[in-house]
Amino acid sequence: MMGPVRAQPWVSLMKITRILVHQVDLPLREGSYSWSGGKSLKVYDSTVVRLETDTGHVGHGEVCPLGPAYLPAYAAGVRAGLAELGPHLIGQDPTQVGVMCRFMDQRLKGHPYVKSAIDMACWDLLGLSAGVPVSTLLGGCHGESVGLYRAISQDTPERMAESVASFRADGYRQFQLKVGGNPDLDIARIRTVVGGLKPGEIVVADANTGWLPHQAVRVFAGIEDLDIYIEQPCLTYEECLNVRRRTRRPIVLDELIDGIPVLLRAHADCAMDVVNIKLSKVGGLTHAREMRDLCVAMGIAMTIEDSGGSDIATAAIAHLAHSTPEAFRFSVSDCNSYVTVTTADDGPRRVDGRMRAPTAPGLGITPLSAVLGKPVLTIG
Ligand code: MG
Repeated sequence: MMGPVRAQPWVSLMKITRILVHQVDLPLREGSYSWSGGKSLKVYDSTVVRLETDTGHVGHGEVCPLGPAYLPAYAAGVRAGLAELGPHLIGQDPTQVGVMCRFMDQRLKGHPYVKSAIDMACWDLLGLSAGVPVSTLLGGCHGESVGLYRAISQDTPERMAESVASFRADGYRQFQLKVGGNPDLDIARIRTVVGGLKPGEIVVADANTGWLPHQAVRVFAGIEDLDIYIEQPCLTYEECLNVRRRTRRPIVLDELIDGIPVLLRAHADCAMDVVNIKLSKVGGLTHAREMRDLCVAMGIAMTIEDSGGSDIATAAIAHLAHSTPEAFRFSVSDCNSYVTVTTADDGPRRVDGRMRAPTAPGLGITPLSAVLGKPVLTIG
């Protein structure tokens, strides 16, 4: 006996009819955020994408570069890229996330950050149409919640230690110190902060590519007795591999790991112990999920986050992080807690240094149209 006739898999569930692009300024809660090379920001420039469809479903995504000098990405570039790519997407089925991802890669070479918000909105629409949260589509939630880390803006050793103490009071148990400056000062920053740690707390010293190899090796020698992690010490792959072989500290690679080819190479070379997966760095949830699954298969723990953003990007992070096996979640960022603007009242909220993926269908958030304001770009 045959079962009921089912829709063929190639039957389109919906079509994109219009794309609205919003620009949102996100002032930083701490006033500013500073990292290696004297880089500092007071306000994030975020882009929110709203995908409208012929079924009435609406999906959202967000991308927020960390200024123009952190990754090869900048805020105005997001909007320029969307103006270029957007018209090709009208009439496409956003729920076929793999097809959409490949289509975008064929229509616009590179520029993964431009595609990240669209990809996020496609997953939102797939979840909305299926009536399940994105975390379910990504494999389901592991555990009750995900542990968060806090980035500690670069400052004097004493002020960085004070900052750690204040974020400890907010429930964080993992701290990422922004170093990558003068090696002697960086050693002092690390030693001062580690001296005040409580049992069970974890510290990562993130140089954000700021050291030359000779400087990295000096810092390693100055902190070799401490139980800490080092993140992205130098700019190039070869430099990072060189210095990685000269320390016993676990290494996290971030800026360098922007796709599967370099992830495989770094794994083959034993170049790192942990990788940092940022949604916009790799082009959105689809590629981040591929890398996440590969890391789980290869035994590599991950930091899961994005370069910045508000409640929308944080919801996407929460879905990917919560659907990642707990043993592989090295750390996760609640990007929305760094900024003063709320773009969705139902975005993930930190409780005791942890957050959960929203449980409503799709990304599970309802962006506030009054906060998004008028679109700066309308396509379709
Ligand atoms: Mg990093």
